[in-house]
Amino acid sequence: MKEHRLTFNNEACKGCGLCVHFCPVKILQLDASRMNQAGYPLVSVTDIKKCIGCTFCAMMCPDSVIRVESIDE
Ligand code: SF4
Ligand code: SF4
Repeated sequence: MKEHRLTFNNEACKGCGLCVHFCPVKILQLDASRMNQAGYPLVSVTDIKKCIGCTFCAMMCPDSVIRVESIDE
């Protein structure tokens, strides 16, 4: 089974929550305890093992913050 890795260009994130909303397995959340320099809350991944690699989060992000990679075991 493939595993996935998400990387975030955090300084480009505007905290809009679109990625959170569109993730079909609901593993993304806005984390108010983490902010970028512009003061926006950053996205945290709650359980990367549940990621199905659909890339919806990356496609929905208006600022191309997220990169989704598959990792072969
Ligand atoms: S790739 Fe799909 S399943 Fe994984 S975090 Fe993004 S939207 Fe969710
Ligand atoms: S869609 Fe992009 S800009 Fe919006 S919260 Fe997610 S990572 Fe940040």
